[in-house]
Amino acid sequence: MWYFPALTQYKNRALCMRILMVEDEPEMASLIRQALEAQGMVVDGAVSILQARAALQQPLHDLVLLDRQLPDGDGASLIVEARSSRPHLPIILLTGKRDVSERVHGLDLGADDYLSKPFAVEELMARIRAIGRRPAQVSIPTVSVGRLTFNFSTREALVDNLPVPLPRRQLLVLEALCLRAERTVLREWLIERVYGFEDEIQSNALDAHISKLRRQLEAVEAGVTIHVIRGIGYLLKAN
Ligand code: CA
Repeated sequence: MWYFPALTQYKNRALCMRILMVEDEPEMASLIRQALEAQGMVVDGAVSILQARAALQQPLHDLVLLDRQLPDGDGASLIVEARSSRPHLPIILLTGKRDVSERVHGLDLGADDYLSKPFAVEELMARIRAIGRRPAQVSIPTVSVGRLTFNFSTREALVDNLPVPLPRRQLLVLEALCLRAERTVLREWLIERVYGFEDEIQSNALDAHISKLRRQLEAVEAGVTIHVIRGIGYLLKAN
């Protein structure tokens, strides 16, 4: 079922969102996938509530596109479930139902936005970009790798519930690596996240932070390793 993207798909790094698309109509799904991938987004597809539920077990996605009329029920029934584990996960409902009461109901259930079919792909893209710009909306509460847990709300790294003392830059590096744990993190993306728009970054500064962070994680026996993917970036994995 899973489609793992090649790195070449991260064309637009600022928008390298990973999106779960829950849509059972093949034509619609293919249209949306093409549009999102053309923007450099990574798309995982699910065609039923059952598949979507399985996909949502892991905190992989930055946003969910959710069709309401699915073969095994109303997609909107997933909103409450999804929000119980990921309160800030952005969800956009897609539906053929144009009725105002349906629309209000969808938003009442906690969807961030709502699009009635047929919609222009450009409109969908605009809505996704708007949600992607809200920083709190793409955060996820915690991620655990090895013995390490990163809490994105408090910006704390914990091993056995004890905070790991880290200077700010190292903390930002670790946060970025945890956000995409077990996945390759592009060097440029990491630099953008850690340094923001500061210019004149020493090219070896990031490597120095990574080395120190690596030693610190070893010292507290976090059970994780930061792998270097030569010429591409880094990968945080459980040992
Ligand atoms: Ca449908």
